Amino acid sequence: MREPYTTTTVYFQVDPQVPERRPIELAGETIRDGGLVAFPTETVYGLGANALDKAAVEKIFRAKGRPANDPLIVHIADLSHLPRLAVSVPELAYRLLDRFAPGALTLVLNKRETVPANLTAGMDTVAVRIPDHAVALALINAAGRPIAAPSANKFSRPSPTTAQHVVDDLEGRVDIILDGGPTAIGLESTILSLVGGAPQVLRPGGVALEELRAIVPDLTYQPRYLTGDDTASPSPGSMLKHYSPRATVILFRGEDDVAVWAAIKAFADDHDHVGVMTLEKDVRRFADLDVKVESLGADLDAAATRLFSALRALDSRGAKWILARAPDTTGVGLAIGDRLLRAAEGDVIDVKPRR
Ligand code: AMP
Ligand code: MG
Repeated sequence: MREPYTTTTVYFQVDPQVPERRPIELAGETIRDGGLVAFPTETVYGLGANALDKAAVEKIFRAKGRPANDPLIVHIADLSHLPRLAVSVPELAYRLLDRFAPGALTLVLNKRETVPANLTAGMDTVAVRIPDHAVALALINAAGRPIAAPSANKFSRPSPTTAQHVVDDLEGRVDIILDGGPTAIGLESTILSLVGGAPQVLRPGGVALEELRAIVPDLTYQPRYLTGDDTASPSPGSMLKHYSPRATVILFRGEDDVAVWAAIKAFADDHDHVGVMTLEKDVRRFADLDVKVESLGADLDAAATRLFSALRALDSRGAKWILARAPDTTGVGLAIGDRLLRAAEGDVIDVKPRR
């Protein structure tokens, strides 16, 4: 098959705290010229283009193989850029940004007419955030433009948390890759809509719902997963199949520790080429089984940073199955559970407690 978009990819290693000037200036110029730059943020790597240039935005969709009904998030360096994108911004937006920007919170606002329609998938709203990463902020400032950037992976693949993941998915489809090391949070931003009624979380992410509720007590979150191209959704693009490795992912859910681990082990025993992703404390449970184990670290924050790379790692280790336990839905657990559910395409085994 002919590649839809090919180019020579130039790769730069940059200091994540104090990025070197030359690569940043070159990357900023590339954005201004309508090119594509992959860059680190504190959530995941982004695939960036000039948000106000329709043709540049179109390149993002082509490079990722992303469907046109899945809108992009726009990244800005500070609040002064907001009026270039959004109109009738409610006072609540400024209160939220005061507390969470820069950070992993994306706000959905009414868009300014000059924002290209392909960026917002034809909607009259736009999603905006200020990333908390020196490389991302330096790039936006060097470009002097807001930067549209979805995650820098091929559509439906696990999001990239290292520059190597970006190379694996997008080499030859992006002009520049800025390597600023592994990302700190490892999960995408929380998306909060401030248009059309009560504030609504459209996607859980790096900022926990509990933290948002301190400022927005009436916010709602209704998990919704789309299986077709349901354009009536308030959050187009929240497809059930997403973040998918090549292996088949199965999620085990249940309160009873012993029963859940017994179910996971029984499945592993009955199948070949099984991979398991689990917190470090549970790795030992698989010592006597022929399974490929990826540790997610000591706690849920560590698990967030390792989740996507563990999915990719088990793929490269030849796993046909990837088993994981659904985490608690508190704090970052809500976002981890959401990503796991979508990696599993909804394939969940509910484990009954033992009597
Ligand atoms: P990502 O690919 O991780 O950057 O995710 C972008 C996601 O943001 C999309 O899949 C949508 O779910 C969401 N999004 C972006 N723009 C809007 C918008 N205007 N309204 C609602 N959701 C949006
Ligand atoms: Mg994505």
